[in-house]
Amino acid sequence: MKAALFDAFGKPLRIADIDSPVAGPGQVLLKVCRCGICGSDLHMTEDTTFGLQGGEVIGHEFSGEVIDVGPGVSHLRPGDQVTAAPLRGCGTCPACKRGEPAWCPQFSLIGGGYAQYAAVDEFQCRKLPWGISAADGALAEPLAVALHGIRRARMEPGQSVLIVGAGAIGLAVAFWARRLGAGRVVIADIHDYQRDRAMALGATEFVVSGPDMATRVAQACDGPPQIVFECVGKPGLIDHCVDLVAPRGRVLVLGLCTAPDHMNSFRAISKEVDITMSVFFAMPEFEMAIQALDSGSYAPQHLISDTVRLVDMPDAFEALRKRTTQCKVLIDPQTA
Ligand SMILES: [Zn+2]
Ligand SMILES: [Zn+2]
Repeated sequence: MKAALFDAFGKPLRIADIDSPVAGPGQVLLKVCRCGICGSDLHMTEDTTFGLQGGEVIGHEFSGEVIDVGPGVSHLRPGDQVTAAPLRGCGTCPACKRGEPAWCPQFSLIGGGYAQYAAVDEFQCRKLPWGISAADGALAEPLAVALHGIRRARMEPGQSVLIVGAGAIGLAVAFWARRLGAGRVVIADIHDYQRDRAMALGATEFVVSGPDMATRVAQACDGPPQIVFECVGKPGLIDHCVDLVAPRGRVLVLGLCTAPDHMNSFRAISKEVDITMSVFFAMPEFEMAIQALDSGSYAPQHLISDTVRLVDMPDAFEALRKRTTQCKVLIDPQTA
């Protein structure tokens, strides 16, 4: 099969012919329909933080069709359209039983989506309901990550929300905030590239950051926002969010910052700001994300800005290292 291989840090991915995986015990073999390119994939290929090895196939936001099942697979059958959660656990410990494999002692994050075929554990897969295409199923993972952030923030209906960063996760947070009843949903970014997309996903206002940003945000939120979501992941941004949030408000950190950050704790303590971190998701959130894929108004499909062939994927991947007008780019590994 064809796959996009990671060779070494600082090198673009390379399309190569490799052996197809086989479905091991408890596993299904998927013909990958779509795999989203995620910001964390870009991070992984930059440096050793995530321990990526040469020869690996990454890509963790994927959906596809079951074409084979290994021994012991009980529910899924060939022909089923599924989306796979990239969180692998043992399947039997208390965390796994709660649907939180991210907290399993044997937890690992799986890749394999930047390829034509991928083998995954059956219990990581969720069947897509009728009417939801496998092409959209790849959005379930980033939507689940954003939903987990909303739940970690304990957002309540009517609250005013500011989202810093209009990337795919920031926009997905806007989608959920609106859907779950936030009063104001304001997105801020240094560029206005994603303004239309943000409004289509449920934002009530889009603010381009600048000197008078706090004033404009407070206007858009009818006072300082009660929750600020940090969805960028650059040093200094938690401080920035602490400045913008209302006294006794909450800063919810979803941005993946791989460099050490400092924090002005005096600013935070003076306002009694709650700072909460959010990573991954639980399987019930993944299931809720799948259900949200046929939501009609403010459809999450607005996140998709492009779908590229596998052969074009390494270039598309490198292009995303710079700030572009793209949002969620999907790969279609089956189109030659
Ligand atoms: Zn992701
Ligand atoms: Zn477990």
